[in-house]
Amino acid sequence: MKLMVIGRGGREHSLIQTLAKSSQAEKIYAVPGNAGMEEEAVRVPIEETDHEQLVAFAKENDIDLTIIGPENPLLDGLSDAFQSAGLKVFGPSKKAALIEGSKHFAKQIMQKYQIPTADYAAFTDAEKAKQYIQEKGAPIVVKADGLAAGKGVVVAETAEQAMEAAEDMLINGQFGSASKEIVVEEFLEGEEFSLMAFVNGSAVYPMVSAKDHKRAFEGDKGPNTGGMGAFAPVPDLPEGSYQTAVESILQPTADAMVKEGRPFTGILYAGLIQTDLGPKVIEFNARFGDPETQVVLPLLSNDLVQVFLDVLDGKNPELTWEKGFCAGVVVASNGYPGGYEKGRPLPVWKKQTQVFTVHAGTEKKEDSYISSGGRVLLSGAKAAELSQALDDVYDHLQVFDSNKDFFYRRDIGLSAISSRSR
Ligand code: ATP
Repeated sequence: MKLMVIGRGGREHSLIQTLAKSSQAEKIYAVPGNAGMEEEAVRVPIEETDHEQLVAFAKENDIDLTIIGPENPLLDGLSDAFQSAGLKVFGPSKKAALIEGSKHFAKQIMQKYQIPTADYAAFTDAEKAKQYIQEKGAPIVVKADGLAAGKGVVVAETAEQAMEAAEDMLINGQFGSASKEIVVEEFLEGEEFSLMAFVNGSAVYPMVSAKDHKRAFEGDKGPNTGGMGAFAPVPDLPEGSYQTAVESILQPTADAMVKEGRPFTGILYAGLIQTDLGPKVIEFNARFGDPETQVVLPLLSNDLVQVFLDVLDGKNPELTWEKGFCAGVVVASNGYPGGYEKGRPLPVWKKQTQVFTVHAGTEKKEDSYISSGGRVLLSGAKAAELSQALDDVYDHLQVFDSNKDFFYRRDIGLSAISSRSR
């Protein structure tokens, strides 16, 4: 079977590594891909935005199944373009991807179908937003309605901060059309975790839970990033919380999308917060999470090609998860998520059996890798205990320790294990 994965990040490399294990995978194309993917796939230099060329390539090369990684092409209707051309594609339609593309839309769905989430109000008028913020008081959260590359959320500690954020978004057009409307919502307290599921209409097949670390620096300090590390499953969730999240969040959301005439086929990702009243939704994504995918997929025992095919064919896929844990730590370019230099040589490391590498921002120069993005790669490991998986990863990452071009967080997973000292 010929497969095509659209995207260029760690999430897509992890997908490709998992698909490559399938005996059904004859050939995998990574479009446009990154240098690390060359081990398992053939790279094709077509941009994710070039729908016409992507469809043409899939037709000309008899691609049997395409998987779309990132959110932007989904929101631009790439899945619809493949479907219209009679091509098999895994990823939601534009109409269904709106659950990620508009925070107001997602809130409306949750309110209408009583899916647990923070109380909110949506505004296009800055004065009304400011009035609401003053009434509610701080802490309070201000969110741009549309996609803002992970930067459109302000968790404000004071009402002034929140009002400033509302003004920046609505009046100063901070995120262009993505912040023409904002959602102002109640601040929720608790541990965050995420849950992804394969979904086809009302059929929901959940994966194991995961947790990512969004802030750039140790102790959850510094600016938000695309994610600096992750682990799966989350060992310290209260009993029943996983099941509640599936039954009271993922399933009713999938059902709601069907009822709204926007049936969802793809990966539904719920960003959740474990409150005293149970898990509540912070956000929905319409695709695999990054870096959660890099630590969830290695725990899947089944053939991922078959899982995708079964989900698309309306069959119950076999999903068996390994019993242990998987942890991953991101190595980033110094300066990320702000400005950073590209083209820096990566240190050479020996392949270790217990550690795997997922590439994100890398290119090849002669025979070695150089950096080409903010998040460069993720080192991951699986073990019976989370602490062991983390020890293996951190031992391996020592190769980056004397290198001033890159950095990584040394406290990934620390909160979830009691007896680790690093
Ligand atoms: P992503 O880059 O993952 O798509 P995003 O920009 O869509 O993120 P959210 O995930 O909605 O933004 O929020 C980013 C972070 O802000 C969350 O991980 C969480 O830490 C915090 N946050 C968001 N909403 C709330 C809330 N209601 N209460 C407390 N914290 C919140």
